[in-house]
Amino acid sequence: MLSISNLQASIGDKQILKGINLQINAGEVHAIMGPNGSGKSTLASVLAGREDYEITEGTVLFEGEDLLDMAPEDRAAAGIFLAFQYPVEIPGVSTTNFLKTALNEIRKHRGQDPLDAVQFLKLMKEKMKLVNIDQSLLSRSLNEGFSGGEKKRNEVFQMAMLEPKLAILDETDSGLDIDALRIVAEGVNKLRSPERATIVVTHYQRLLDYIIPDFVHVLYKGRIVKSGPKELALELEEKGYDWIRAEAEAA
Ligand code: ADP
Ligand code: MG
Ligand code: MG
Repeated sequence: MLSISNLQASIGDKQILKGINLQINAGEVHAIMGPNGSGKSTLASVLAGREDYEITEGTVLFEGEDLLDMAPEDRAAAGIFLAFQYPVEIPGVSTTNFLKTALNEIRKHRGQDPLDAVQFLKLMKEKMKLVNIDQSLLSRSLNEGFSGGEKKRNEVFQMAMLEPKLAILDETDSGLDIDALRIVAEGVNKLRSPERATIVVTHYQRLLDYIIPDFVHVLYKGRIVKSGPKELALELEEKGYDWIRAEAEAA
């Protein structure tokens, strides 16, 4: 589904990604871990097509298409979803309206007719049940005054509604309580399917107690310096990142 080769990216003069190689198949969940500042959020942003970054080298193929050549909205239409590390608040716009616009925009890009009010409501009801979200949250302004847990539930709901092929979740470095972690994990697990791949960017080994990844990758100074099975996350929890740094510097 996703094939990243020698991906290098900069902001201004600063090179942040220094040659990322990563292959992701449909049905897989990959966790990306690594010390603060290693480039995890940059990688997520580059895949979603945020424009602050200059791609200086490398290729990214998504279902065989050149992803780097696609505009962000075309990436969304092709099935890439990024749950932002810091979700935006949009006063005056309810989640319902936001999602209706986003969904129909995606459908338009795919050459599909917009959903009418009845179809949209039916889909909403189905997905609300799936991720166990309350109607009242959906009629409030997007993310405004939401608790950490409510923001997460909302993100998971957006993901359920948009049915991405590749979901990228970039988790905040702090401030997520155990309930919020569970909400994210339950959502990701419910949305697991043989057709969908997920990239979970996280500092939290704890999150990976609930979302069992197929692969764990450690990003350090803009490179994936170690990959392994789910047990690698436990090893990182136990030993921290110093041994990874030492190994990477030695190499
Ligand atoms: P992580 O998510 O692993 O903590 P980031 O991708 O956020 O890492 O950041 C990687 C590096 O890029 C850091 O050194 C950070 O300071 C730098 N960086 C990120 N965004 C910007 C920006 N907009 N301008 C300048 N430097 C940035
Ligand atoms: Mg960070
Ligand atoms: Mg980050």
